[in-house]
Amino acid sequence: MITPLEQRIVEQVDVLREDMLGFLRELIRIPSINPPGDGYPSCARLVDDRLKALGFETRHVTAEHHPDHSAEYPRVNVVGRLPGRSPMPTLHFNGHTDVVPPGEGWTVDPFGGAVKDGRVYGRGACDMKGGIAAALFAAAAVREAGVDLRGSLEFSATVDEETGGFAGMDHLAREGLISPERTSYVIIPEPFGPGRICLGHRGVYWFRIDTIGRTAHGSMPFLGVSAIGQMERVLRQIESTLVPALRKRVTDMPVDPPGARHATINVNGITGGQTDGGVGSPCVADRCSAVFDRRFLKEESFDDVRKEIEALIDGLAAADRDFNAELSDLMVVHPVETDPDAELVGTAARTIEDLTGAPADYVASPGTYDHKHVYNTGRVSQCIAYGPGLLHLAHQPDEYCEIDHLVQSCKVMAVTAVRLLGAD
Ligand SMILES: [Zn+2]
Repeated sequence: MITPLEQRIVEQVDVLREDMLGFLRELIRIPSINPPGDGYPSCARLVDDRLKALGFETRHVTAEHHPDHSAEYPRVNVVGRLPGRSPMPTLHFNGHTDVVPPGEGWTVDPFGGAVKDGRVYGRGACDMKGGIAAALFAAAAVREAGVDLRGSLEFSATVDEETGGFAGMDHLAREGLISPERTSYVIIPEPFGPGRICLGHRGVYWFRIDTIGRTAHGSMPFLGVSAIGQMERVLRQIESTLVPALRKRVTDMPVDPPGARHATINVNGITGGQTDGGVGSPCVADRCSAVFDRRFLKEESFDDVRKEIEALIDGLAAADRDFNAELSDLMVVHPVETDPDAELVGTAARTIEDLTGAPADYVASPGTYDHKHVYNTGRVSQCIAYGPGLLHLAHQPDEYCEIDHLVQSCKVMAVTAVRLLGAD
């Protein structure tokens, strides 16, 4: 059931439709490509101007000590707060301003913001400048409808999500800007579509294995031990024993696509021996390195995940005294999942049903996004991803967002905000 006040807000979104579209096109025209992290100050300024116009108190939070921060590529985040009559509860909208490089295959300018057939095109249209526009205009619709919120509203536009989010959302959480003391709920408008609520994601373990051989003249390889040959044995062992074991493990998280409900492993890259092409020198490779991406389930513990790799290496070493390998951890992200019974989830789901007429779908993401920092660093337990666009269009040529998606999800976010924070 929609109340008259909520109806007024919904109507305001329709009034603001063209303004929202204009803002999104402006944002798309800033090529905030990451890596290297271009255009962040321009994105922060554009969002900041809008937030100020809506009455938010804003500040720029720059991750000056992050290794990727430089004078040429500053890591500038913007955070705004619209205090309600009481500091809590606080709903925080967060979107990332970075986009992945455009790549090949575009039929429109990836940074032109073209509009045709009810869609807006461009890199970031759905991932996730469309989400930033929809969330920002949800706040605008609440204001324009003359609604006074009891709780407070916050908005952040952050950097580097596509490369881990450490100078972005993780930095805000470390600065205490995302914390249980000041943050009740977080909505991240990633492109899951206007009818779907994403509850979390699987865990990530990136690691490197180095095999160490013994060099020899390439004309007499039997005098050495090839590190490449040793790596081949690692890969074969993974394929024959680990992969079948991982396939048997299934999470009860609603990961979409369902293939990603299993634990998985990928070889991200491999280098060894002579790597610069050409004729080169005849040597037995004494070192080979491979980087692996193991996605683990909330039902697995990270300790077990790591021990499983150690055991695989130890097994190969026990069977062959020439086998020598080292394991190095590169990155660990623990799985996160918001309780489907949490107030944020229930409120967003009811709002989706009230506004679209169809029940909300709960999903979980195969890959990680900034939710990890909200929970693992910020310790805020109620976080969902909800926003316009279709995930399978993200990182693709001719990325677009349906304008109807923008409008629909903007309405859901606006009414959800009012329901969570209370209004007069
Ligand atoms: Zn994204």
